[in-house]
Amino acid sequence: MNLHEYQGKEILNSFGVEIQRGIVATTPSEAVEAARKLTEETGTGWHVIKAQVHAGGRGKGGGVKLAKNLGEVEEIAGQIIGMNLVTPQTSAEGKKVHQVLIAEDVYYPGDSEPEEYYMSVLLDRAKGKNMIMYSTEGGMDIEAVAEETPHLIFTEEIDPAVGLLPFQARRIAFNLGLSGIAFKKMTKFVSALYTAYIKSDSSLFEINPVLKTSDDRIIAVDAKVTLDDNALFRHKDYAALRDEREENPIEVEAKAVGLNYVDLDGNVGCMVNGAGLAMATMDLIKQAGGEPANFLDVGGTADAERVEAAFKIILRDPSVKAILVNIFGGIVRCDRVAQGIVDAYKNMGNINVPIIVRLQGTNADLAKEIIDNSGLDVQSAIEFQEAADKVQAVMS
Ligand code: GDP
Ligand code: MN
Repeated sequence: MNLHEYQGKEILNSFGVEIQRGIVATTPSEAVEAARKLTEETGTGWHVIKAQVHAGGRGKGGGVKLAKNLGEVEEIAGQIIGMNLVTPQTSAEGKKVHQVLIAEDVYYPGDSEPEEYYMSVLLDRAKGKNMIMYSTEGGMDIEAVAEETPHLIFTEEIDPAVGLLPFQARRIAFNLGLSGIAFKKMTKFVSALYTAYIKSDSSLFEINPVLKTSDDRIIAVDAKVTLDDNALFRHKDYAALRDEREENPIEVEAKAVGLNYVDLDGNVGCMVNGAGLAMATMDLIKQAGGEPANFLDVGGTADAERVEAAFKIILRDPSVKAILVNIFGGIVRCDRVAQGIVDAYKNMGNINVPIIVRLQGTNADLAKEIIDNSGLDVQSAIEFQEAADKVQAVMS
């Protein structure tokens, strides 16, 4: 589960990581109120206004702006809230901004030497270790740094059973070129960050930039946090951090009815049981010259109710021009699935795209008969290739 910057920063801060302080706002007047409060706490009259959407590169898209006074806070918040923010990480339509973070300006006006670093914590599955990736080249596109100057990216491997050792935190501070107070603050920052990563059961932290101010504070200015969904049961309070507005609406709906659905760009909808068969079906569609519109695993119990729920989800996507149902009847009998399809089709009444059904396994012949005798715009197939050819035929 992905979080907004302000939520990620709150989690970091709850484990002792120093952050750029801020308050979230949903209207320009709330933004002004937030800025006023921050000035009381921090003394600075300058604020940065940051669009809260689940996408990086907001600065480049005009979603991060500096305000020198309350009038500017109100004006800029008014511009950003409600805008469709387009960044290198969003689609061309962009993402609608519902809220902004009003944060203290930590790049003190006139500060000559703010240093920006990159730091992330993630899991290296191949090594079975956690990893801290860091670089002196923060604040910019880390992919570009990796491509052009890969020697400027360092990694520190951490054995999860042992944890981050003090010498590792010191090595990181050293490689970032720090000394004195900043060196000490960085070792503290790194160890608090690692603790936060472990204790929050996150699968990714990306802090870009980590800032060193001229008075040697080390601060997380940005935070991308991904929580491990499988560990959410251990963090009941994190469940409320989900922002469904940031997620694909069809996927949200599918999740609510217990379907495993991923929206894709193509035009052939797929309804399959089993993740492996779903992947193979997508390959098959591609080989036949089509593009899958989705990944959908209906699971083991493909009864009429479930099939109908799945049809509804698939048809929510307006680009779907045909549906391929590919079900292997192992635990569930094919004739029951076929009856489920026919019932669902009749029940819905408004399916106006061709459907190709391939049922293989127990009672496949019986299933084919049920489909063929239904009088509906549903074509049956038993062989994989036969199904693919039929998809191709209806698409061309
Ligand atoms: P991103 O573009 O989505 O990665 O958003 P960031 O939070 O990283 O902000 C983008 C850039 O805005 C940063 O790299 C900084 O250079 C700048 N920025 C962020 N906070 C401040 C601030 O408090 N003051 C100033 N002057 N610049 C800031
Ligand atoms: Mn950033």
